[in-house]
Amino acid sequence: MATRVTFIGAGNMAGAIIGGMIDNGFSPSAITATSPSDAFLAPIHERYGIHTNTDNAAAVSQADVVVLAVKPQVMREVCEGMASVIQRRRPLIISVAAGLPAETLARWLGGDLPVVRCMPNTPSLVGAGASGLFANAQVSDEQRRLATELMEAVGLVEWVDDEALLEAVTAVSGSAPAYFFLMFEAMEEAGVKLGLPAETARRLAMQTAFGAAKMAMASDKPPAELKRNVMSPGGTTERAIEHLEEAGLRRTMAEAMDACAARAREMA
Ligand code: NAD
Repeated sequence: MATRVTFIGAGNMAGAIIGGMIDNGFSPSAITATSPSDAFLAPIHERYGIHTNTDNAAAVSQADVVVLAVKPQVMREVCEGMASVIQRRRPLIISVAAGLPAETLARWLGGDLPVVRCMPNTPSLVGAGASGLFANAQVSDEQRRLATELMEAVGLVEWVDDEALLEAVTAVSGSAPAYFFLMFEAMEEAGVKLGLPAETARRLAMQTAFGAAKMAMASDKPPAELKRNVMSPGGTTERAIEHLEEAGLRRTMAEAMDACAARAREMA
């Protein structure tokens, strides 16, 4: 029998993972999504043909995997409301909620459960996400494989063996799409100062980021070497890179990421 997966919450993140699972051949009839609001459920049912339910406890009663995809503020109430059914069924719990430790989630669900905590990022919404995953001691190898398969439906998966490292993941990938968006803003502004139309500068900057990422991912060379390959001595790229290094880009990036991880620690 197919693994039955219930999503608690039917918003952006749940919709992205469900879409990816179905694209990867997962049967819609094995997927259920819940929400108190039909406004969320009708479109997701229409689009993917999955089951929907406004009753969380009923929806998890037959589930092998329960994906917690509600906002952190409502998580406690949601978990406590279905704890008794979860304790009878004992499914794998996967949480995509920022900042809530595996132990807290397990406790709200009645204690002693296999929990995978996942730190995804927003490009998951277009199938190009990067997620860091942590499993508590109760998660079996088979459940780990299942969690990998589910989250790979929306992008890259990397496991960490210490839950505290999810704070580093937050700094490297969770919050990082915004670093690149800032870079696009800055490159567009600079391109305009150099005389290009804004749209032209924006398109060129974004395609270049996409191309650089694609090239780096296809290559077995480290980024430092790829960078050197574009820098002919005395040329234009060398001049730009020297300027970025002298201006302290590396230090600024390290400080920004330290601040990000520190904030993730405060919020945990
Ligand atoms: P969203 O607002 O789009 O969706 C939340 C869903 O939860 C809605 O369908 C809502 O109806 C449902 N909901 C609210 N109360 C509920 C209840 N009592 N029972 C069942 N469902 C209920 O939010 P989202 O962006 O999908 O975020 C969901 C989680 O994913 C959050 O915890 C967030 O931290 C995490 N996350 C999201 C992103 C992202 O890119 N959107 C990135 C990283 C992490």
